[in-house]
Amino acid sequence: MKMSKLFVQTLREFPSDAEVVSHKMLARAGYIRKLTSGVYNYLPLMWRVLRKVETIVRDEMDKAGAQELLMPFVQPKELWVESGRWEAYGKELMRLKDRHNREMCLGPTHEEIITAIARDGLKSYKQMPVNLYQIQSKFRDEVRPRFGLLRGREFIMKDAYSFGTSQEDLDKEYKNMWEAYTRIFKRCGLDTKAVQSDSGAIGGSVSHEFMVITDTDAGENDVFYCECDYSANSNHAVSNLPEAVVDGEKYFNECKIIDTPNTHSIEQLCEYLNIPSTIILKTLVYIVDKNPVLALIRADKTVEETKLMNAVGGMEIRIATSPEIEELMQNNGFNAVPGFIGPKGFKDITIIADNTVKDLKNFVVGINETDKHMVGANLSDLELGEIKYEDIRLVEAGELCPECGKPLKVTRGIEVGNIFQLGTKYSKPMNAVYLDKDGKSKPYIMGCYGIGISRTAAAAVEAHHDDWGIKWPLAIAPYHAIIVPVSTKDETQMSVATKMYEELLANGVEAVLDDRDERPGVKFKDADLIGFPFRVTAGKTLQEGNVEFVIRETGEKITMKPEEAVQRIIEAVKNIK
Ligand code: ATP
Ligand code: MG
Repeated sequence: MKMSKLFVQTLREFPSDAEVVSHKMLARAGYIRKLTSGVYNYLPLMWRVLRKVETIVRDEMDKAGAQELLMPFVQPKELWVESGRWEAYGKELMRLKDRHNREMCLGPTHEEIITAIARDGLKSYKQMPVNLYQIQSKFRDEVRPRFGLLRGREFIMKDAYSFGTSQEDLDKEYKNMWEAYTRIFKRCGLDTKAVQSDSGAIGGSVSHEFMVITDTDAGENDVFYCECDYSANSNHAVSNLPEAVVDGEKYFNECKIIDTPNTHSIEQLCEYLNIPSTIILKTLVYIVDKNPVLALIRADKTVEETKLMNAVGGMEIRIATSPEIEELMQNNGFNAVPGFIGPKGFKDITIIADNTVKDLKNFVVGINETDKHMVGANLSDLELGEIKYEDIRLVEAGELCPECGKPLKVTRGIEVGNIFQLGTKYSKPMNAVYLDKDGKSKPYIMGCYGIGISRTAAAAVEAHHDDWGIKWPLAIAPYHAIIVPVSTKDETQMSVATKMYEELLANGVEAVLDDRDERPGVKFKDADLIGFPFRVTAGKTLQEGNVEFVIRETGEKITMKPEEAVQRIIEAVKNIK
């Protein structure tokens, strides 16, 4: 490809709406252009990268024994009703109607469709296990599309679904996919960590996410990990707590209601009573699928919303607003301000208590009266009846590893893929069954396995860049090398450059010749920004018969004969995999 013909417009500046490096660089270097919120054009450079990621994914999926197919992007409502997700999925599901007023949706994922395909064609245990996958655009009306390709509304995903007759089949395929994923991300030049995670809207029990660890804002997930190999996403992580004062008997020897003026926050309350927050029971109001829920937790700890949502069995969660809390209190006959809320006296409301609440004794708790608290309280004083205890606590760094007891550390990660054990979550409600050896019909035992193709490409930019631009891993770079004659008017430079370029092409290297009549500074800047893994410059050093060979990843510059530079690149490209 000649640079003068390459369809690319680099920008002088980063786009103003870009918050993270991959979005900034991919936009500025001319890989993507935004069409509308969370929807991007993949321009030729980007498409080359995406196709390379896809090729690696395909290759490893095929090697792992999976079979590719392609399902429609538009899906009928009926299958989603069968699975129960037409109601449950929420606003991320983009719903539409056709001219006959039939309801449809844009595919955010394809469990329903694949289960219907299996139901049609997988009738006997003899046909299983089987794993079917596709690579396709998905649409999710994300609440906050952001970070360019990392969280788009339209994005490219590889989704695979396995069907088996036993948990053993599933465990085997889960491991098989785990290993394929490890190879895929490695080949894409990414170090990933497989962490335990919540199974969220898709459901099921066991699941892992493959995370690219990053210390930038692009890492949307907190990953807790330990030297012992334990690692989990914050929505799934558990910990043991270090010793703490959880019995307030030293401070309060009887249960009574006292005045606590202006103690709207836990800090103010601690200061006023001169107590640690570990002997306060905190009450929070959340709205889960439109219904209020009270969450109780030891006051020095934070509620993890996904855990709470799962404890309630909901699909959407948010913290209640002050007016909502006031209204809830009024409906229960209280007229306190929100800072003084407590669980006592609420009727017909779901209450979930974190496990930390079990250990509290002689504690302090809001009593739904402004400027008052109950002190020296015990659970029986609250007259709550049966309480549901769950782990709804957000783990913090420094708490103790559930497996080995050492302090946990925290880092951030970008989820590039995940694997789920679905079990019969879809096959049962959709009545997707096969005939077993004994002639009985049984639901398939399913797994599902996703990789964000476009997110993986963006994550590679997050992991490989410097201030000047992208440093593509060779295996997914849009082109392997660029040949830059310093001056296109210099005949020797042009002829050496052209010869190198042609030789590279003849040997299967994807090369670009920068034939533009531009200043060398401009050409080098563009080369760095676009992120060619190798640059060969034909300039002044040609007087001694040499060119300059530059490795983008390390910044290394080596002077060598043109033939040697060509040979090095050919070798490097041969060794990809
Ligand atoms: P997230 O928690 O980041 O929203 P998810 O759990 O919704 O991800 P899945 O439904 O399992 O993700 O989708 C499989 C893969 O698709 C993810 O691992 C991720 O790489 C990718 N993906 C999901 N949502 C997006 C998005 N909005 N933009 C780009 N890629 C995405
Ligand atoms: Mg999501």
